[in-house]
Amino acid sequence: MDIAEKLERLKSELPENVRILAVSKFHPESVIMEAYRAGQRIFGENRVQELLPKYEHLPKDIEWHFIGHLQVNKVKYIAPFIHAIQSIDSLKIAETVNKEANKCNRKIRVFLQIHIAQEEQKFGFSYDEAADLLKSGVLGSMTNLDIAGLMGMATLTDNSTQIRNEFHRLRCFFQQLKNDYFADNDSFCELSCGMSDDYPIAVNEGSTMIRIGSKLFGPR
Ligand SMILES: *Cc1c(COP(=O)(O)O)cnc(C)c1O
Repeated sequence: MDIAEKLERLKSELPENVRILAVSKFHPESVIMEAYRAGQRIFGENRVQELLPKYEHLPKDIEWHFIGHLQVNKVKYIAPFIHAIQSIDSLKIAETVNKEANKCNRKIRVFLQIHIAQEEQKFGFSYDEAADLLKSGVLGSMTNLDIAGLMGMATLTDNSTQIRNEFHRLRCFFQQLKNDYFADNDSFCELSCGMSDDYPIAVNEGSTMIRIGSKLFGPR
C-alpha cells in the first residue's frame, strides 16, 4: 500500500472530528511530499535541526506541529512559522515561547504535555502541576500563546486496559479544565493522543488529533 492508500484507509476508520497529524520525523522530504500530494497538511517533527530545512524546502501551507522536548535556546528558530507546539512541558518553555512569539508579532498555538504514562522518561507536567499552573493565572497572562489543548503519550505496553485508563483520565482532565478555565474560549478544543499502536483506543476515549508516524511512513 502506498502512503495515499494508507491515509485513505486510516481516515475511513476515524470519526469526522478526529484529525491526523502525520509524524514525519526521520523521514525524507520526498515521503512528506507523497503524503502532501494525497492531501495531508498537518505534519509533526520532534527536532528543531530536522524541522528547519524541511520547513524551508516544503510547501508553505503545511501546518507544522512541534511534538518533541523543546530546548529554550531553540525556540527562536521555530517561533516565526510553527503552527503549534504540542510539547509545552515546563513554565520556562511556555514563557520562552510567549516571548519569542511576541517578537514575531504572532500568537502560537500550544498544547500542555501531560505525563500520563507509568514510565519515567517521558516529559510533561503532572496533572497537579498543570492544574496549579492554570489556577495561578500565569498561563492566561501570556498573551502570545493560544492554549489549544492537551497532549499525552500512553505507556508503551500491550495492556490495553492500562492504555485506555490513561487516555480516559486525560480526557476527564481536559473536560475539567475546559469547564474551569476555558468555558468561553473556543481555542481550547484539542486532545492530542494516540499513536500508531494505540490510536483506536485514543479515538474511543475522545482524542481529536492522533499522531501517526510508523503506520503511515514505515519504520524509522
Ligand atoms: C514519534 C512520535 C509519534 C509517532 O509515533 P508512531 O508510533 O510512529 O506513530 C507520536 N507522538 C510523538 C510525541 C512522537 O515523538
